Amino acid sequence: MTVLDSLVSRFDDLLLTDPTALAEAATDFGRLVVRPPLGVLRPRCTADVVEALAYAGPRRIPVAVHGGGHSLYGQGQAPGGIVIDMNTMNTVVAVEQDRAVVEAGASWRDVLAATLPYGLTPPVLTDYLGASVGGVLCAGGLGGGSHRHGLVADSVLELEVVTGTGEHLTCSPRRHRRLFHAVLAGLGQCAVIVRTTLRLVPAPELVRRHCLYYTDLDSYLADQRRLALHGQVLHLEGQARPSGGPDWRYMMEAVVPHTEAGPADAGDFPDSLRHDRDAQEITDLTYAEFTDRVAREEAMLRVTGEWSRPHPWLNLLLPEQTVPAFVRRLLADDDFRDLRTNGLVLLYPLVADRLRAPLLRKPPGQLLYLFALLRTAPADNPRKAAQMVAANRRAYQQARTVGAVAYPINALPMTPDDWQAHYGPLWDSLVRAKSLHDPHGILTTGHGLWT
Ligand SMILES: Cc1cc2nc3c(=O)[nH]c(=O)nc-3n(C[C@H](O)[C@H](O)[C@H](O)COP(=O)(O)OP(=O)(O)OC[C@H]3O[C@@H](n4cnc5c(N)ncnc54)[C@H](O)[C@@H]3O)c2cc1C
Repeated sequence: MTVLDSLVSRFDDLLLTDPTALAEAATDFGRLVVRPPLGVLRPRCTADVVEALAYAGPRRIPVAVHGGGHSLYGQGQAPGGIVIDMNTMNTVVAVEQDRAVVEAGASWRDVLAATLPYGLTPPVLTDYLGASVGGVLCAGGLGGGSHRHGLVADSVLELEVVTGTGEHLTCSPRRHRRLFHAVLAGLGQCAVIVRTTLRLVPAPELVRRHCLYYTDLDSYLADQRRLALHGQVLHLEGQARPSGGPDWRYMMEAVVPHTEAGPADAGDFPDSLRHDRDAQEITDLTYAEFTDRVAREEAMLRVTGEWSRPHPWLNLLLPEQTVPAFVRRLLADDDFRDLRTNGLVLLYPLVADRLRAPLLRKPPGQLLYLFALLRTAPADNPRKAAQMVAANRRAYQQARTVGAVAYPINALPMTPDDWQAHYGPLWDSLVRAKSLHDPHGILTTGHGLWT
């Protein structure tokens, strides 16, 4: 009997093996790596996930989870194994005064649709709400609220998981604490998340969004620093944008709560900042509109076809003092010149001690910067896409020499040695957690952490 025959006889109608299901699970948003599984399991409940992992573990059948499918380089694929499609477990189970209980296959859009009617929101959201709860918690989750509240994963109160041996456990800062910390920002290495309890905070009804422009990188960084450390803004991000000529300009996006009667008190913001007053753009939006702002861009990019092109994205976390030189050099680098035409560059600060999940690697210092190089490769030109991935690799190596680390959701080939260097002093505890909870090494092999 082949492995496929044994899976089919064991999981019967839960397992899809038709070409459409396999093709979908073989690819991801990155569209750079295509590796089909043997089957796609659509669990009805946690017991199905338990059964699948208890079966796959001893047989060393690779397992990965497909949530929203927004991996960039095959991290959610399971060649020759099982992809668990968590979209069948996407219920927002309960919304209470300060928390929500959510199945891991729900998207963040689903979460907000359930919490906003109660005037509640998770404290931090990623820019895009189409990713799954489980997928973002595995990455950590950075967003405009991170300078105040840390990672999306830092708002998790409790997790229900199934380990690589098929053990169903509930973990939290008080219960199975080590497992809890191995799962959050843990890249799916130790367990499948099936359900989570998220902390909620009151959501503003309206927000005022300020897009503030700078021609000078140093002034931009100085103003971002002030707002990150001392400001009252709800959301702080920013972008480098090509100017007409060879230069770049910088757009800080800062959002404050707002009411019909006027803006809530945000101290001397934005009057004390050094942006170009003539270029500033101020928009009032409902909080719901603001949080789902990328949906409009997604719709547009789907129409132009760009959404389904390859995405050789690279996300780096830079130590603050290296930002001006590193950013200037990279934005002038010929290998990245297509960022001017087919890309988006994010550049915004994070406050190190607010990012608490231990497995999120950070460069040293009080402030760090997310520098995200989000490019689209041409369709049907794999050679060009491969060159862009190779350029990511070169940029990553240069970044490492100045003390930067990867925010590990990239189109970036990494060896086990790279991962060991990435985790540094945490490597041994990750190895221990892995051997305890996924001793057969079946979970989420697509990151390439292990030999
Ligand atoms: C347009 C866009 C904007 C983005 N913006 C941001 C942003 O602002 N901030 C940010 O931090 N990230 C951002 N991301 C990245 C995104 O948060 C991550 O790629 C996230 O991991 C995607 O989750 P997913 O479920 O959609 O993807 P998937 O590919 O389904 O899953 C991602 C990884 O998590 C694993 N996984 C998924 N669910 C589970 C689970 N329940 N248990 C265990 N493992 C699981 C998968 O196996 C895979 O390895 C963005 C991505 C896109 C495409």
